[in-house]
Amino acid sequence: MKNRLSGPFVLPVRDIVRQPGEMREHSYTISVPEQWGEGIVSVAKGGQLALDVRLESVHEGILISGTADAEYDGECSRCLRAISQPVEVEFQELFEYPGGETADFELQDDHVDLETLVRDAIVLSLPFQPVCRPECPGLDPATGDLRTDSSGVAQDPIDPRWAALQELTETESASDAVQSREES
Ligand SMILES: [Zn+2]
Repeated sequence: MKNRLSGPFVLPVRDIVRQPGEMREHSYTISVPEQWGEGIVSVAKGGQLALDVRLESVHEGILISGTADAEYDGECSRCLRAISQPVEVEFQELFEYPGGETADFELQDDHVDLETLVRDAIVLSLPFQPVCRPECPGLDPATGDLRTDSSGVAQDPIDPRWAALQELTETESASDAVQSREES
């Protein structure tokens, strides 16, 4: 573990150590210090990260819990459009006093360093197969264009009872396709 006692993820807990029952809360927004995540989507370096952190003094150390909100960027795994979506995670971990036998996280000189905790929670919650929207039709394998029903290619036969619904969907995906071209 790096011994580093400054930076936006380091919080002082001197005023509540060894005082079980004491509690502090912090809400603040910082910049993500480096890119988080190596997949199709990731949280960009410099992106905003909003933290709500509760620090509770307990017998064994300081119990940290809270939520982190950020935004990930990347591309839709079906249609390859650029996407940007919010991600919110909860985290909880006990930072034990030095000398504890089972400590994954330890207090360092009356500080807690939340970076590993928050980064891991965010990275683990990033989707492996992100989509721009749940019903994204993906790319047409023949043309490489965004698949639309009007192309007439590779469509499954559709029950006539669904035809009216399909027309609605067609209109929607056609306008989405136009929008994506305007954005890119
Ligand atoms: Zn998509």
